[in-house]
Amino acid sequence: MKVTMLSTIIIAIGLLVATGIAQEQGKKEVMKTLEKAPGAPKEEVTKTEEEWKKVLTPEQYRVLRQAGTEPANSATYKQFKEQKEGTYYCAGCGAELFSSDHKFDSHCGWPSFYDASNNKNVTLKQDLSHGMIRTEVVCTKCKGHLGHLFYGEAFDTPKDQRYCINGVTLIYVPKGEKKPEVKAEEKP
Ligand SMILES: [Zn+2]
Repeated sequence: MKVTMLSTIIIAIGLLVATGIAQEQGKKEVMKTLEKAPGAPKEEVTKTEEEWKKVLTPEQYRVLRQAGTEPANSATYKQFKEQKEGTYYCAGCGAELFSSDHKFDSHCGWPSFYDASNNKNVTLKQDLSHGMIRTEVVCTKCKGHLGHLFYGEAFDTPKDQRYCINGVTLIYVPKGEKKPEVKAEEKP
C-alpha cells in the first residue's frame, strides 16, 4: 500500500514538473509566433494625447493610453458575461482582437479569453511595473493597453493561458451584425 502511494506521489510530482516545462515552452512558442506574425497591420493609428482624449471616454483613455486597470467586476464586465456569440474590437482603433469562441468564465472580475481571435492585432510585451514580471497585452495597431496575459493557471480551457482584458477597451459586436464605426478609426 505504502509503495503504491509513494509511486503515486512520484508520478504526480513528475507530471507537475512536465506541465511546468510544457507551459514555459508554450509561452515561448506564443512569443515567437507573435514576433514573427506575417502581415501584421502596417497602418498604425497614431494620435496626439489631445486627439485621443477627444475620441475616448475618460475611463477608456486612462486604461488604453495610460495602462490603467478598470475595477474588478465593473459594469462592462457584467455586460461581458451576458454577451453571446460575437467579436470584440479595439475601442481605440477598431482592430479585431478577440472572439466569443475563446471567451471563458475565470471568475477573476475581468473579461477572459484563452486566445486572441487575430494574433496579428495583439502584441505581447514584458511588463516589469508594480514589482512584478507580467506579459502586457497591447493592440498592435494603436498600441493601446488592453490587459495582461497569464499562463499556467490550469483553467479547463484548450490553451493554458488567460488574456485578462479590461472590458472598457473592447467593443462587442454580436454575430451577424456589422462592425460599428470607431470614432478613432482613420479614414482612408
Ligand atoms: Zn487599437
